[in-house]
Amino acid sequence: MRNIIVISGPSGCGKSTLIAMLLAEFPELQFSVSHTTRPPRPAEADGRDYHFVSEARFERMARAGQFAEWAEVHGHRYGTSWSEIRAKSGRGHTLVLDIDSQGALAIKHQFPEAMAIFVVPPTLAALKKRLLLRQGKLDREARRRLAAALKELRTYELYDYLVVNDELASALSDLSCLYVAFCRQTARSNDDVKKLLRRKK
Ligand code: 5GP
Repeated sequence: MRNIIVISGPSGCGKSTLIAMLLAEFPELQFSVSHTTRPPRPAEADGRDYHFVSEARFERMARAGQFAEWAEVHGHRYGTSWSEIRAKSGRGHTLVLDIDSQGALAIKHQFPEAMAIFVVPPTLAALKKRLLLRQGKLDREARRRLAAALKELRTYELYDYLVVNDELASALSDLSCLYVAFCRQTARSNDDVKKLLRRKK
């Protein structure tokens, strides 16, 4: 059984910040470093945030079946490699995937035991404000991201849980609770009971 948590949410919902905080709180969590053809942003590091690869390399990997899922998002390709899943979702580790709804659907299909969480903004006005802050102005890119965010919001029913990111601390607390509940699922936490039963014989 794989330990996989998918976290999605429209651009500007604060998902990346929440994921970083969750990873800091639970050291056993591992972040899934996706491959992407998007160029790195100034603060991003290759191998930490993404594996930044050329179109040709991505294409070769996709053809060779090296991705558990991949999708085109905002004009670039993004994919989760099988090697990330195999290396980081085994015993004692839980893999956190920050992927879009196309990826979430594919992962849930292959790993029904995965937990899928959708982070949503409290209001449309808050989402617009965050997108504006990120882009500086409501230019073409911000408008495109807003349209994509609305499309992404409509996919909410794919997910097992919704977290409203109104206040960061409370959204993080919701996420932490969901993670603890995930770990306590009978199938994931039955080792101690099994030991007890063995001793009884
Ligand atoms: P950004 O370019 O802002 O880092 O990410 C854009 C979108 O791509 C985000 O919604 C992010 O969740 C999604 N994404 C990142 N990695 C993957 C991936 O491996 N697969 C899929 N399907 N989406 C991804």
